Amino acid sequence: MFANYHTHTTRCHHALGSEREYIEAAIAGGIQVLGFSDHSPQPFPGTYRSGFRMEMTDAPDYFATLAALREEYADRIRILIGLECEYYPALFEELLRTVKPMGLDYLILGQHGLFNEQGAPMAPRPTEDPALLRQYVDQVIEGLQTGEYLYLAHPDIMNFVGDPAEYDRHMLRLCGYCKEHNVPLEINLLGLSEHRYYPSDRFFRLAAQVGNTAVIGCDAHKPQVLSDTALHAEGVAFAARYGLTLLDRLPV
Ligand SMILES: [Zn+2]
Ligand SMILES: [Zn+2]
Repeated sequence: MFANYHTHTTRCHHALGSEREYIEAAIAGGIQVLGFSDHSPQPFPGTYRSGFRMEMTDAPDYFATLAALREEYADRIRILIGLECEYYPALFEELLRTVKPMGLDYLILGQHGLFNEQGAPMAPRPTEDPALLRQYVDQVIEGLQTGEYLYLAHPDIMNFVGDPAEYDRHMLRLCGYCKEHNVPLEINLLGLSEHRYYPSDRFFRLAAQVGNTAVIGCDAHKPQVLSDTALHAEGVAFAARYGLTLLDRLPV
């Protein structure tokens, strides 16, 4: 694995290990470009908190800590500072205004919630409602249209368990957009290693049909996965099984 752009830190409250341990594990795993992309803070109004992301007040330390490590490790590995960020229309502009001046290298789109999250359904919760599936696809496309995202993380995180024809119709729309605009789709190694419902056969069969490009994302919530070359190889095999063109590095 040449590059991994999907790496978390303890600021999201559900990842383990220090930044330094992630970097050392990546070097041990032969990774040459390590992008950190912890769950983005979101400037929610009022007192609402997500619980699975850093707070807005954590962001300065996130960027400063990683910038210092980037200097320290400069001759051994290239470190990038990104965020895994939902597209929440009501919050996006304020978020960018805040984090871009801190030294943001890139965003990846991981759409864990619908609408603006607060009081809205979450994508991993199983649903038969085609209106929610449509909302997911519409919202992801709208987010990608901002041009702010490097790739689409776990594109198949929407856990739709209703009519398969509806699933195909909407996900083909999503894959078609990504193909047309050269947005790579992530094969998520966290899901693969934990046998989650994603990366899913039904989604990547559609992506293969459309001819999408793919990128492997460790979605590292613990350092060891960055040195787990057998797991990285599983991701490569997954892409090969569907005949997907795998990009080993992205323009950032
Ligand atoms: Zn996470
Ligand atoms: Zn995610």
